[in-house]
Amino acid sequence: MVTSTETLAAAVRNIPDFPKPGIQFKDITPILANPKLFEAAIHHLTAPYQPGDVDVIVGVDARGFIFAAAAALHLKAGFVPVRKKGKLPFDTHEESYDLEYGSNTVAIHTDAIHKGSRTLLIDDLLATGGTAVAALNLLNKLEANILEAAFLIELEFLNGRSLLGNVPVRSIISYS
Ligand code: AMP
Repeated sequence: MVTSTETLAAAVRNIPDFPKPGIQFKDITPILANPKLFEAAIHHLTAPYQPGDVDVIVGVDARGFIFAAAAALHLKAGFVPVRKKGKLPFDTHEESYDLEYGSNTVAIHTDAIHKGSRTLLIDDLLATGGTAVAALNLLNKLEANILEAAFLIELEFLNGRSLLGNVPVRSIISYS
């Protein structure tokens, strides 16, 4: 039997004031350390799909890589990384977005996804939505067919999903 989303949620460790005062950091390492919970996380993230339904799963640097890569194997899809600027060795597209202080830039290889490929974006957590919007903008530059953006955790009160436009958003664990 697959572990419930409630059991998964109970395994997320809340760390107050990390990395700075006022942030409730959602630590997913207890899920990763337990194979039943990790398997359940991948099961729930990929639940709407069968192998053959998805061509590419995109993961965002760095915790997104863990879930997206495992989901890609599960669905027999390719895995594509969206990395922080300056880390990818080949030609890249870049997107910048604002953080509370300063900005961040993410990048994707220009040949990472063929036009029209059925593509799923996976990240560990949706907060303000800035990271996901930047990643989706990169996918649009490559003319990917974006199926949805899926997150293990959503901080609903930050309303990040409102920034994601027409892209369907799905989350497994949410905090209101
Ligand atoms: P955002 O761009 O605001 O939606 O932030 C999403 C990214 O920041 C995700 O890739 C998360 O890994 C990380 N993040 C933001 N807030 C938290 C939090 N409270 N706990 C853990 N990770 C977070």
